[in-house]
Amino acid sequence: MQILKNLYQTGGDLNGLTFDLQGALWNDGNSYVLKTETGSIMFDCGCGNTLDQIFANMKYWDLDPYDIKYCLLTHPHFDHAGAAHLLKERGVQLIAIKETADAVSTGDERCAGYLYHKVFKPVEVDTIVSEGDILNLLGIEIEVGHYPGHSMGCTAFSFQHENKKITVSGDIIGTLMVGDFGWDGSIDFDKKIYTESLRRFAKLNPDIMLPGHGMIYFHKPKWRAEDALNSALSQWR
Ligand SMILES: [Zn+2]
Repeated sequence: MQILKNLYQTGGDLNGLTFDLQGALWNDGNSYVLKTETGSIMFDCGCGNTLDQIFANMKYWDLDPYDIKYCLLTHPHFDHAGAAHLLKERGVQLIAIKETADAVSTGDERCAGYLYHKVFKPVEVDTIVSEGDILNLLGIEIEVGHYPGHSMGCTAFSFQHENKKITVSGDIIGTLMVGDFGWDGSIDFDKKIYTESLRRFAKLNPDIMLPGHGMIYFHKPKWRAEDALNSALSQWR
């Protein structure tokens, strides 16, 4: 699904772009692809069972799956990073923050396999990044923001595209049509740390936010983040 010129949502079962199990809406997180002249950058990669569907979607939009040079992981949960080992086998470079890299290298409970009754296939991340880093990938500058809470590895990746600030946010905030939190069953979920992250995240103020599930926020995503912060401050103290 085209978001902007050269920017696509390639998977996600909440809006039916991909599906893992019939009737399941949270098994496959959103994945996105930014196309450049020298290759493509992927953000999250779904649960693994849907990678062929993601590639079929890409081909439909004239994107070549073999052009994917990098995959940036927003956090280690199965529905977002389960396909990482499959991409690595294809020569895709994986990029993530240390907490996510540690989790996916073991495939332990931080990857939430227990939620899906699956075993996470461990994979080594190629490049570990940190809060505040500015990556230059295929000529695109991508800013790294670490917002732990939903999981300790939660990361936002922001870049300028078509004169807009785009933020890929994973599950930092809730992913329904209302401001809300991500799933709170992660073994490393932490309300206090999450609330502090939401305070910072509410200041990020992108023009378009590409979340980990559900609908893309084209209109004042900051308001969604502020709603989540308000909910956290109301409910978690
Ligand atoms: Zn998650």
